[in-house]
Amino acid sequence: MVKSLTIETRTAAETRVVGELLGRLAQGGQVLALSGDLGAGKTTFVQGMAVGLGVLSRVTSPTFVLVNDYAAGRNLHLVHVDTYRLGDRIGDILDEAATFGLDDFLDDAAAVVAIEWAERIEPLLPADSLRVEIDPAADAPDTRVIRLTATGPQSERLLAAVVEHSASLPRPESAG
Ligand code: ADP
Ligand code: MG
Repeated sequence: MVKSLTIETRTAAETRVVGELLGRLAQGGQVLALSGDLGAGKTTFVQGMAVGLGVLSRVTSPTFVLVNDYAAGRNLHLVHVDTYRLGDRIGDILDEAATFGLDDFLDDAAAVVAIEWAERIEPLLPADSLRVEIDPAADAPDTRVIRLTATGPQSERLLAAVVEHSASLPRPESAG
């Protein structure tokens, strides 16, 4: 079973294509835990997911509202969380996450949940999530290395589906 896959993109549009494939293949209840520095391309990736999920409205960064909930196709919805503005202390983070109902979103079988800065709420993440780490490549300013890692069976199935559809990915690098 493939547990991780690395994809390189050279433009924001290519990162959207990767997100779009994930959105197209994701099942309800799937959590995607995104990490990567400011400007890495997390929101860009989620915008692609929205296309793949059939979200009709424009996806903007939820940095100031913590969470946006979009109606999607297949009776699903896309929940876009950005923990960047949550408190710095883990106690504050847990309180604030509870205030906006993170648990309910994570338990919602009809939700595909994409969390930016997921590492900040690590203790709240479900055991089964697809980790999406986006890092700039050292050599080229617009190149990003996207590493997908599955931490449980649902995410492994999603990753396997991505591998199956890898012909529609820009430059698949390596699966392991
Ligand atoms: P984050 O949400 O991680 O802070 P954003 O998606 O908001 O990042 O911004 C990423 C920025 O980097 C955008 O301005 C985008 O156009 C640019 N960019 C350049 N190359 C890429 C790439 N290969 N993938 C994603 N974004 C890229
Ligand atoms: Mg962002």
